Amino acid sequence: MSAADASPKLAARSWREVPRRLAALWRRSLQFRTVLITLALSGLAILVIGLYISFSVASNLFQAQRERVLEASNSATAAAQSILDSSDATDRASLQALMGSAIETVTSVSGSTDFGVFRDPDAPPNSSAPPDLLSSSLAGVISPELRAQVQKNPGEQYWQSVALRNGDGGTDPGIVVGSDLLVPAAGRYELYIGYNLGEAEQTLAFMQITGAVGAAALLLLLSAITLVLVRWVIEPIRTTAATSRRLAAGDLGVRMPEKGEDELATLAASFNGMADSLQARIRELAELSVMQQRFVSDVSHELRTPLTTIRLAGDVLYGQREDFPGPTSRTVELLHTQTDRFERLLADLLEISRYDAGSVTLETEPTNLVHLAGDAIESMHELGRQHGSELHLEAPGGHLDAEVDPRRIRRIVRNLIGNAIEHGEGRPVVVSVDSNETAVALSVRDFGLGMTDEEAARVFDRFWRADPSRMRTIGGTGLGLAISMEDAVAHGGTLDVWSEPGKGSVFRLPLPRVPGAGPIVSPLPLAPADPDSHGPETIIPTSDVEAADAAGREVRDA
Ligand code: ADP
Repeated sequence: MSAADASPKLAARSWREVPRRLAALWRRSLQFRTVLITLALSGLAILVIGLYISFSVASNLFQAQRERVLEASNSATAAAQSILDSSDATDRASLQALMGSAIETVTSVSGSTDFGVFRDPDAPPNSSAPPDLLSSSLAGVISPELRAQVQKNPGEQYWQSVALRNGDGGTDPGIVVGSDLLVPAAGRYELYIGYNLGEAEQTLAFMQITGAVGAAALLLLLSAITLVLVRWVIEPIRTTAATSRRLAAGDLGVRMPEKGEDELATLAASFNGMADSLQARIRELAELSVMQQRFVSDVSHELRTPLTTIRLAGDVLYGQREDFPGPTSRTVELLHTQTDRFERLLADLLEISRYDAGSVTLETEPTNLVHLAGDAIESMHELGRQHGSELHLEAPGGHLDAEVDPRRIRRIVRNLIGNAIEHGEGRPVVVSVDSNETAVALSVRDFGLGMTDEEAARVFDRFWRADPSRMRTIGGTGLGLAISMEDAVAHGGTLDVWSEPGKGSVFRLPLPRVPGAGPIVSPLPLAPADPDSHGPETIIPTSDVEAADAAGREVRDA
């Protein structure tokens, strides 16, 4: 398609966009709405008033013109009649001359050259009576009704509105006034005088145009005034909106300028008051939170020394457990596992309090996520085997390195695989890794218990467990996913979850290739393509499952 073809289409499209844009403007801009409503209402008011004025002026003007015309016609008829009355002409020639001078008087007194003179059709025929006369502008204008009225009522004056032909070939509004003349020796004649009211009409049109221009100017002025006024009122509202946005974004020191004593100043003052108390409250909470974090951190540190002593003593006892009688030996084993758990919990608490204190720094290096996932699977293979879960690695794409802290990412992956094994019901666990230009992603899928939406929404909360009463076989602290989330966020990534009861879960970890590289698009989908599957076909030797069951039972017994 050529450019010439394209531009009219583009123009048509942009014209079609206009109503949509106007509707959007109407919705979004109070200023636009106010100006438009003012324009519409004042336009309507001006139209009604204008029409009323125009109609009453037109009717007054017409009435005045009509009275002037009737008066002029009356005087003209009287003047002509007195000329006729003063004559004693009887022959045809002198009667015609008399009629001529009467007509001349009519035209000079009435100021109109449009006239018609007709002999009364009921008068007896008279050969010396002057003939009928009619100026061309009145041809076909005088209606038979008017003539009938004039003929029926001698001495009376009648009028009729007509359209008179003007010099330009068009017509002008006019009035024809009918009366009668008594010509000596010739009988009664009807006299019609036409008056052109074109000039009055022009005056009216001029007045109407002036009025319309004035109304348009008034509307424009009103719109401009409304615009200025609305802007004047809206500006502080805009400032308030911008200030609250900044406040909401965390800029707690931001305040509105307080000027004057009007309502807007009151708004600014109350807004600033609200911001002040908000800032004070947040500061209080922040101080409290710092205190709490410090408390957790201090307690954890303080607990470390006695725990080390307990650990050492426990280890000694554990090493000699064979020498103790049965119940004591079991107590020593219990002490050993619980000390392990205590140590893990303390380590997790210290890690979380480090995040809370903002003292975490990443030690990044180019890391291949596929290798890292492979190593993690390798190290957890035994645990999977004990639970009857086979661990699979799927890494379809090109595997470029990512700049991450391998220790932390390994911790996330191990935690996700551990959870998948624990909640995987002995079904396979699939770890997938993929990458694109900006991001790498790792997901861990199990086909086990799964979670409801409410559970999945809370899964990253600290110390949250779907079923706190369930016996724990791997012995998590309830902090694993919370720490994993902190680790992921510290890398500029995140952790998200898909889960359905009975169908298993997917935990996905998308990370930017380079920390702080802006928004990323995960190369792996979150929801699985086959949510109803029970995992890749695998045959697990029965003995392994029994061994895993036995291992589980052993821990539970302990
Ligand atoms: P922990 O595993 O130590 O309990 P986590 O933070 O790792 O703590 O997990 C919190 C809770 O989330 C678990 O107790 C469990 O209820 C739920 N959860 C985690 N992973 C899964 C999973 N793959 N399938 C089902 N539930 C899970």
